[in-house]
Amino acid sequence: MSGPPTAEGVFGAGARLAAEAARFTSFGWMRGTSGNLSEVVSRDPLRLAVTASGLDKGELTASDVAVVGPDGASVDVPGVTPLVPSAEAGLHARVAAVTGMDAVVHVHALNAVLAGHHWPKGVRLRDVETLKGIGRLAHDDEVVIPVIANSQDMDELGDRFEAVYDAGVPAVIVASHGLYTWGPSLHRARHVTECVEWLLAYAIAIR
Ligand SMILES: [Zn+2]
Repeated sequence: MSGPPTAEGVFGAGARLAAEAARFTSFGWMRGTSGNLSEVVSRDPLRLAVTASGLDKGELTASDVAVVGPDGASVDVPGVTPLVPSAEAGLHARVAAVTGMDAVVHVHALNAVLAGHHWPKGVRLRDVETLKGIGRLAHDDEVVIPVIANSQDMDELGDRFEAVYDAGVPAVIVASHGLYTWGPSLHRARHVTECVEWLLAYAIAIR
């Protein structure tokens, strides 16, 4: 994915993002207009298609995307009507840059917020089969989902993310806010999100 993104590439990503957003909305993870999803449409230069700001995430279409650069600011692509990116697009770009992954999911799943409340220094998980769903072992493998403090400043939030980033854990909880997950594809990021949310619900239930 080198060279500038094309309108075709952006709308292809937009269609996939819309489908995933509808799925997560049906789970109650994108209430109101909350949450946002992104896909890398170019690595060099880094460009992401990210769901546009202020829209109901259950009703998106392929063209309801903004294109942003590494700092989360909007970038023009010929043939794509510029929409306002989510304020959180800067963190999506930072996650994509740091992890090297091509899809980033951000949802306001209640269990992520509850888990961040109960375990502000990180959520410890081990000896549960669903850990295999995030690439870890079902036995004798301690996993800590990091928790970072919330901020409205995406540079600050990005620095906090980088400070706790563990290449073996594809998720971070933003306290009093929600969950970020990532994967090499949107399909994989979906499965990570579903498994992480389940693991957090489990941790809360057995605490
Ligand atoms: Zn959010």
